Formats: sequence, C-alpha cells, structure tokens
Amino acid sequence: MNKFSWYEAKSVEDALQQVNSTVSEQLYKHTDKASIFKSGGVDVFDWVKEGLLKPQKIINIRNIPGLDKIDYDRKKGMSIGSNVTLAEIASNPEIKTNYLALHQAVNHAATPQLRNMSTLGGNIAQRNRCWYFRSGDHDCFRKEGDRCFARHSETGENENHAIIDNGSCVSVHASSISTALMAFNASVVILNSEGEKKKVAMDDFFVTAAKDIAMENILQAKEIITEIILPAPSKNTKSAYIKQVARESYDWSLGDVAVVLEVSGNATCRSASIVLGAAAPVPYRSMEAQQALENKTINSENALAAAEAAMTIARPLAKNGYKVPLFVATIKQAILEIS
Ligand SMILES: Cc1cc2nc3c(=O)[nH]c(=O)nc-3n(C[C@H](O)[C@H](O)[C@H](O)COP(=O)(O)OP(=O)(O)OC[C@H]3O[C@@H](n4cnc5c(N)ncnc54)[C@H](O)[C@@H]3O)c2cc1C
Repeated sequence: MNKFSWYEAKSVEDALQQVNSTVSEQLYKHTDKASIFKSGGVDVFDWVKEGLLKPQKIINIRNIPGLDKIDYDRKKGMSIGSNVTLAEIASNPEIKTNYLALHQAVNHAATPQLRNMSTLGGNIAQRNRCWYFRSGDHDCFRKEGDRCFARHSETGENENHAIIDNGSCVSVHASSISTALMAFNASVVILNSEGEKKKVAMDDFFVTAAKDIAMENILQAKEIITEIILPAPSKNTKSAYIKQVARESYDWSLGDVAVVLEVSGNATCRSASIVLGAAAPVPYRSMEAQQALENKTINSENALAAAEAAMTIARPLAKNGYKVPLFVATIKQAILEIS
C-alpha cells in the first residue's frame, strides 16, 4: 500500500475543494497522482491494498453531516442520502412497505457486518467485478491493457461474467442494489465543485463498456453523489427481487432480477420495469421482457414468455452458458411472486 494523506471533509463543498486531480476520470484512469473520495471504504481499500489505486490523498466523506438521512413523502417519494448505510436501508419500515424489491435486494447484499459499513453512494459507485480486472497481475482492456483475459475460450475463467453486451468487456456490475433501484426508476443527485446540482436517472448513470471502456459510471473527479431519489409508487405498484448465488450465506450475484409492475384489479400488467443484475457490464433493463409482459395477464405462461424474451439477446461465453436458464427461471419466478 502506498503512503497517502487523509482529509476529513466537513461538508460536500469542502470535499470537492480538496480534489487535487486534474484528470477528469480520477479513479477510472489508473493514475497515482489522484485523490479519491472514501465513504464506507470497503471497495476503495480493496483497490488501494491491491496496489491498483495509489492515491496521494483520501478524502473521507463518511462523516459529512446531512448525507445520512432517509425521507419519505407519500406524494414525492423517497430520498436516501448517499451516506445512509445498507443496514439502515434494510431496517427502514417505509422502504419495506413501499419499495419491497429494494428492501429484498439490500437484505441479500453482502454480510451484516459489511452492510453496517457500506453506504448507498459507495455501493452504486463501486467498481465492476472481474477477478482479472481486480488483479494487479492482469492488464486488461479496462486498465489500458491489450486483451480481455476472461474472454479467452480456453484459459478464461468467465463463469461469473456477462452474457449480454459483452463485446468489449465481460465484467459485471457489482451493485445488486442498483438492480432494484433502476427497476424503481430511481435517480442519482450529483453536486459538482461549481455548486451545480444535477439529477440523473439510474438508466443514464452507468456507462457501458462499448461507450467508454475507461468508465463505469458518469461521475467526474469533482462530483459527489448526495442522494438517491425514488418516485412515489402508485397504489397498484408491486415489486419483487430475487438474487441467485453460489453460496447462500453471502455471495456476489450470479444473476439477480428486480421486477416492478403496475397491476390492475384482474392481475393484468399495465406497465413493467424489469432489470437484470450480473447479466451485463452495467445493470441491464430488459426492454424485451417488459414489452412481452405489458398488457398481459400475470400467469405462468406469460411470465415464462417474458423471461425467454429477455434472454433472446444473450451471448454466453465458454463457461457461463448456465446463466441463460438461470435468468429464465429467476425472471419468471420474480414476476409470479407479484401475481
Ligand atoms: C465480500 C463482499 C460481498 C459483497 N456483496 C455485495 C452484494 O452482494 N451486493 C452489493 O450490491 N454489494 C456487495 N458488496 C459491496 C459492499 O456492500 C459496498 O457497498 C461496496 O463495496 C462499497 O461501499 P462503500 O460505502 O464502502 O464505498 P467506498 O469503498 O467508500 O467507495 C466506493 C466508490 O464509490 C465512490 N464514492 C463513495 N461515495 C461516493 C459519493 N457520495 N459520491 C461519489 N463517489 C462516491 C468512491 O470514491 C469509490 O470510488 C460486497 C462487498 C464485499 C467486500
């Protein structure tokens, strides 16, 4: 681990003034001159310990007052501060009542100890999962190297990797919580060092590898997430979240699904929001599944048709073909949990 200085930020503005990098993508370019924000620190210190990230300065934003609030208004919806911990979200009764899929996703993420440390801002901004990308010994495309080690048909260990949009990078996004947030059409509020605030839909927050392989989200060096906003659900909104893992106690997702449906009295799906996690390098909204389910009765046959529609665009790698039937079964099950 390299030596770094530590700055205890007193406010968001103070933290933003401390950024000493002139590189706009301070974290995503592997520079050793950068400063970095640290919230829970779970992911940041993984990178620092591995020697992949060598910041000169760590700016601790974890103790900034005001970023740790959860507010719910029946008409406006839910606001979750970026420093709210996953444990606080897991135990919030209004989230359980109004955003069940989010409650389920958070309760199935990481371990109780990690949920006590991890913050929502850090969770959605954590870096992708791929053992080659996260190893100091492998210079892959994302680290300005000349190959994708995971993709190799004989030597690539790609069983946990992407089956959709896996043309240039086959890593998957790590935040299973983002699967649920995106399904609820959440937005991310970001403040920059000029004092400008913007609200970005989760669908536009993540950056696909095809668009820019050096980026995983739109955050620039001098920007901080301050809150995540979820629109108010209607009384006909129902949701479910299911995550498949190799080890039930705790594990990264092999495939997770969040389904948020508007359901009319006779179990007809009026609108569908269906998002897949660990399927692609970013949380993936399945337009195919949504279209297949909308204006249909929620039953086993239509749930299966929607699940199969989602997988028509899947292109598995040598060792992750199992993900296709896994997603078909999981999407179907999540839809039927709502009926
Ligand atoms: C063994 C293990 C299992 C896990 N399992 C899961 C799982 O199943 N599902 C899941 O979703 N997660 C999982 N996680 C992730 C974990 O729960 C944390 O959410 C995550 O590692 C980062 O949260 P953090 O608050 O510690 O962020 P940090 O490590 O502090 O920050 C992560 C990144 O976000 C940036 N950042 C942090 N806050 C802000 C902000 N407000 N504005 C701008 N940038 C910011 C940092 O600069 C850094 O780049 C797991 C982690 C481990 C170690």
